[in-house]
Amino acid sequence: RGTMTVGETAKLLHKDASEVIKKLLFLGTMATINQELDLDAIQLISSEFGVEVEVKIKVEEDNFETIEEVDDEADLLERPPVVTIMGHVDHGKTTLLDAIRSTNVTEGEAGGITQHIGAYQVEVNQKKITFLDTPGHEAFTTMRARGAQVTDITIIVVAADDGIMPQTVEAINHAKAANVPIIVAVNKIDKEGANPDQIKQAMTAYELVPEEWGGDTIFCEISAKQRIGLENLLEMILLVAEVQEYKANPNKRARGTVIEAELDKGRGPVARILIQHGTLKVGDSFVAGVNFGRVRAMVNDKGKRLKEAGPSTPVEITGLTEVPQAGDPFLAYEDERKARDIAERRATALRQSEMTANSRVTLDDLFKHI
Ligand code: GDP
Ligand code: MG
Repeated sequence: RGTMTVGETAKLLHKDASEVIKKLLFLGTMATINQELDLDAIQLISSEFGVEVEVKIKVEEDNFETIEEVDDEADLLERPPVVTIMGHVDHGKTTLLDAIRSTNVTEGEAGGITQHIGAYQVEVNQKKITFLDTPGHEAFTTMRARGAQVTDITIIVVAADDGIMPQTVEAINHAKAANVPIIVAVNKIDKEGANPDQIKQAMTAYELVPEEWGGDTIFCEISAKQRIGLENLLEMILLVAEVQEYKANPNKRARGTVIEAELDKGRGPVARILIQHGTLKVGDSFVAGVNFGRVRAMVNDKGKRLKEAGPSTPVEITGLTEVPQAGDPFLAYEDERKARDIAERRATALRQSEMTANSRVTLDDLFKHI
């Protein structure tokens, strides 16, 4: 029949029908659980949830169109984990990110100019790790609020001379809500008065119990400033990644999330994207939020020009018509017309939802009734 109800779509996406209804409302459509959605609407909604659906027409059977998720288990290959560092202000997040970045320049990349592209990769024991260096809280709050999950593992930094503070708790809550493994980095152990055991003790109140106390949370004692314990921390990240088996199919068109974007004076709109599935190639058409474009040039975090980039790779691209927003879903298309069409549909939907939002002060109230 070429359509599915809201309820069926929700089931396909492993979401609650209410979440799909909310998303539709956000896109400017009031819908009920039994409302029929056409294929375009289903694809649009799915991409809003970060899921790609493929339409297969089974002509031989009944001319019905069925929708299946694309990846076969056999097509999934190991990919680097994507790590976010969170914690209270001044507990050492930036120092840690900088220390990891500078101690781990892989051979052959040495000498490359470090680019700030919102994320970077390091190589440890021949395995890559991707770090998001957009402020962790922002990455979580803006992106998660928009339904984009970009993080696999969260490192929660706690200063051993300070202890658990409000943003530490916030970070724990974010990571738990996102169901993301937590590694606690007890930082500043070089400081006088540092008491790592006290931090561990206090963390048990949040159900983060160290392994040596019979729990299952990894605690790493580090000094970001003196560069103590960093290698161990990186190895622990790889250990978690090994257990979690992060995988993606590199052999399909790219899908990812915009982590940062801005208007560059010389180059026009640039977007920093984390590729999460598939491989992005120079020349690919794409949709980023309500914008579309064609990848003109692509560089990595070492300033190296790339022709293509696979899962978990952060890249900076040019070739956009406008500046997208952090958290915008990014999708490559073979067909430029289709990319343009989807971007336009989204822009229209967004305008409609903005109109709805303006005309109804009680949009929040509406959500409550769903
Ligand atoms: P952020 O707000 O979490 O990004 O914290 P910063 O990385 O900016 O660090 C805040 C302050 O703590 C800076 O003055 C750092 O030099 C200092 N700091 C960070 N890590 C350590 C550490 O391991 N030992 C000591 N002694 N100071 C540190
Ligand atoms: Mg900082």
